[in-house]
Formats: sequence, structure tokens, C-alpha cells
Amino acid sequence: MACAICNSLKDAGISAGMYHGQMGSKARDESHRSFIRDDLHVMVATIAFGMGIDKPNIRCVIHYGCPKSLESYYQESGRCGRDGLASICWLYYSRSDFAKADFYCADASSENQRKAIMESFRAAEKYCYLSTCRRKFLLEYFGEAAAKDCGNCDNCTRTREERDLSREAYLLLSCVRSCGGRWGLNMPIDVLRGSRSRKILDNNFDKLSMHGMGRDYSSNWWKALAALMFSNGYLKEIVQDVYRCVSVSPSGMQFLSNADTGCQESLVLALNSEMIDEETSGNSLTKVEGNLQNLVALGREGLSESEEKLYHMLLDLRKRLAENFGTVPYAICGDQTIKSIAKIRPSNRARLANIDGVNQHLVTKCGDSFLQSISHLTQELNLSLDGESVAQPAITRVSPISQRKLTPAKFDAWRLWEKDLLSFQDIA
Ligand SMILES: [Zn+2]
Repeated sequence: MACAICNSLKDAGISAGMYHGQMGSKARDESHRSFIRDDLHVMVATIAFGMGIDKPNIRCVIHYGCPKSLESYYQESGRCGRDGLASICWLYYSRSDFAKADFYCADASSENQRKAIMESFRAAEKYCYLSTCRRKFLLEYFGEAAAKDCGNCDNCTRTREERDLSREAYLLLSCVRSCGGRWGLNMPIDVLRGSRSRKILDNNFDKLSMHGMGRDYSSNWWKALAALMFSNGYLKEIVQDVYRCVSVSPSGMQFLSNADTGCQESLVLALNSEMIDEETSGNSLTKVEGNLQNLVALGREGLSESEEKLYHMLLDLRKRLAENFGTVPYAICGDQTIKSIAKIRPSNRARLANIDGVNQHLVTKCGDSFLQSISHLTQELNLSLDGESVAQPAITRVSPISQRKLTPAKFDAWRLWEKDLLSFQDIA
């Protein structure tokens, strides 16, 4: 890698040298001397490069890839501007850098050490995604008293583009919630982008109402939004071995429930540079339209507000039952089944057994617990027992989105059907 970069620089007419572990000591010394004497303007080195510390007039440090920790970044970037003159640090990173955790953990001799390495690496990753002052973040990371924004870093100097992201945030958070917190970010993002991959079909995620609703944004845009949701505390991450599971944090849940009850007005956030890049590069052309309340109704998939509450209470019950049985919640039944139970609210075993997705095992092992809870909770929530026993009617889609996704011919058909109340036969 060092060789390749060095050669590209030379090809571009820049006097560059190289320093890495595979070079002989004589060649390394020669490189070192040329750099100190300012014969070479650029030194391409691996992180093993220990020199330069004694060279006061380095004007620029460029990181080619996410550093392994903020400690090393701080030290390495601190090699420029030792003479007190203005200097600059560039940090280039790509998403694939963040998959290198395994590589860094290979040297760990204990579980604790491995965790510490992971944590340091995650902090560096967070630094890459930051949309606030970088100097302030670094100083606070190293325990210095809360500093003011520096006014110098990229985030301080670029014009901040702020936007109401409540609809996008709602889609992402509710999709993460619907996926059950058992996946990394790719799953909910693939669901939003309408993927029909095997994994999605196997988990019935193609039946979620938000499936395909985030198609207008690239998956990188959604990942960048997720980074923003992490830094604002709406999403949280649990690391198991090297797998990262994403779930909605308590403040994210609060946001969803505010939105569900119509109390959430807007969520104005500063876009991070990745989102802006994605939008200006044309990868994400349009925005999620329709208002938040329409999305909320869609997210509930035909459940009323009380039914939605019951649904979440039953999810809790399923979690407790799973703990008792020493199993995982989704092994008892899927979320979609819990949704049907919340909608139908069966009063007896026979009616429970009739619900799609309820098997005999569930009825025998958990039937009484479910029935008792349902009878108790329906009173509390003022809901009737044995509600709708048929499949729920199709939900109303947010029309600006549906209209935009249709081809002109389909759009005409839709308009005829919607506006003129013609039957399908007439249109055909
Ligand atoms: Zn700053």
C-alpha cells in the first residue's frame, strides 16, 4: 500500500519517499535523512514510522484510512506544526476501514484486551463520522474540561446544512425496532431500500410496512443517517464478539412514542458530510415526502393507538416468557403474529390457536399466559375482546411517495382508481 501511494505521488511529479517495516535499515535511514533535509517533500510511511517527531516543520499529516484509536491519531496528527505555524491534518477513510476490527484484535491476548481494542477503534470510527467540532470532541475524549468549538476544523468551517429529518429518522428507527434489534445496520437499511434478499424473505421483513419506503436514498445515505442517530443517542449498539447488533435506545423509543402520539414536531439536525456528499453526488435524489403523521399511521400497520400499546405490552410478555423458558423471543413466535394477537385479542384457546403463526406448542406452553394478559390488558386499555378476526384492510399509503414511484401508465391507472373510483375492470 505504501509503495502504491508513493509511486502515484511520484507519477504526479511530487518528490516523495517511503518508510516501512519491509525496507532494509540502510534504505530506511536514507529515506529518513532525505526527509529531515527537506530533499523529500512527502514521506509515505506505515504507522510504524517513528521519526518525524524531531522534525518541527511538517506542515501536513494525511491519514489514509481510519486510525486504530484516537490515542494514536492524536499522537500521529500531532507531528505536524510543532514549530507553531499553521498546519493541516487530513483524514481519509472508507466504510471498509471499519471492518478491520478483526485485524486489530488479532494481537489481543485476553478478552478484556480485545474489548479495549474494539472500544478504541469504535471511538476512532465515531470521530470519522462526527458532525460537530472535532477538536472539542478530542479534548473531551482525553478528559479535558469542556472546550468551545475551535472554529478551524472542517465541521466548524463548513456551512452547516440543517434539515428536519423527523420522517427519515422515524423510518429508520421504526424499521430497526421492527427488525427486533438482532441485526447490524445492513438489515434494516436493506428493508427500507426494498431488498427482497433471501434473509429478508425468510424473516418476513418484506411484509413490514416500511419495506421499500426508503428507496429514494442510497444505502450509504442511510448509514450516514444512522451514524447521526448514534451520535445523538437515538440508536445504540451492542457488540457481541465482532458482530454488532443495532437497537433503538430509550431516547429513540421516546422519539417513536412521541411521534406515535403526535407530540413530535420536528427533528432538526445538521447533516454530516457523508449525507451531503451522497446528495450532491446524485446518489440520493429525493427526499422522503409525506408528513410524519402519515408515516406513523403506516408504521402502525392498521393498529389503533391502544392496539399499538397492547402490541408492545405483548412483546414484553413474549420476552419474559422466553427468559423463563431459556429461549429467545422470536422462537416463541414472530412479531407479525404478536401483531395479529394484539389486533384480534382472543378470549379463549381455540381463538388463539386460529391466529396465523400460532402453533400448538405456543398454545400449550404460553397460551394461558397470553390469554390472561390479554384479558387484563384489554380492560386496562379499554379494548374489546375478540376484535377483528379477519385480515386487516390494506393500509393507506402516503400518496406523494406512491405516486412518485409509479411509472406514468401505472400512475394514470392509480389516479383513475383513486380519483374517479373506477373499478379495476373498467381500467383494464
Ligand atoms: Zn472545530
